[in-house]
Amino acid sequence: MPELPEVETVRSTLEVHLGQVQIKDVQVLWRNIVAQPLEDFEKIKGQKILDYKRYGKYLVFECETLTLLTHLRMVGKFYILNDDKPYDQHVHVIFSLSDGRSLQYHDTRKFGKMKVVNKQENMQYSEFNHLGKDAIDASICAYDLYEKWHPKKIHLKKMLLDQSFLAGIGNIYADEICFAVHLDPASIVYDLSKKDFENIVFHTQRILKGAILSGGTTIRSYTSSLGVHGLFQLKLNVHAQKECAVCHTPIQKIKLDGRGTYRCRSCQKKKRKRG
Ligand SMILES: [Zn+2]
Repeated sequence: MPELPEVETVRSTLEVHLGQVQIKDVQVLWRNIVAQPLEDFEKIKGQKILDYKRYGKYLVFECETLTLLTHLRMVGKFYILNDDKPYDQHVHVIFSLSDGRSLQYHDTRKFGKMKVVNKQENMQYSEFNHLGKDAIDASICAYDLYEKWHPKKIHLKKMLLDQSFLAGIGNIYADEICFAVHLDPASIVYDLSKKDFENIVFHTQRILKGAILSGGTTIRSYTSSLGVHGLFQLKLNVHAQKECAVCHTPIQKIKLDGRGTYRCRSCQKKKRKRG
């Protein structure tokens, strides 16, 4: 599943390869990708894409007066083609562009979603109301997060995956963040200290920014935006690994709140509140 760094890679790739281009026409081949009446979605016709943005795992195409919000979900990706014939049977939405090319949304699972909304200053879209700050936002305050989250008796990993904590972290990076802060993903948030929250914010941003620099991971189904396979394999320390990169203990795979989770029993400890 594309997480923040992968979506950022798609964003910057589209920005470079498409630039400011007008959407001349749109064909919806699989209705359920569009999360609104088709006539509202089709209002994007004639709009010029001015800016490619991202919030958490959302890719945001800001046009003149409207904005296209897209979420790739499990395996969605975009192709840029030189005509507007569908690349294959997994293409569900085709945007024909003024330069003769097309932007094609490809999704073998059909879980992705798209919506056209009125353009808002500073991405104040109601669709983002349930999200926390973007996980690499420089204004994130670890103490504010501590105040809000530390009373909760949930697993650390569940908090990291909750998009209302920070937007953009998924299963792979949640495991890597727990490893970096030396905490067992099954630690209870209630037992964590302010210092732990500081470490979590610091390492979340360090890991996600590092992954953006290397172009995101390409684990299993995910490929970078333009059908490029396997170019950017990020070095992971714990997720889907056989042995710990630090102490060489075999990595344990468990199910935690229904999600496959990797941990090193030697490097990652469960916190207990003192007293
Ligand atoms: Zn270890």
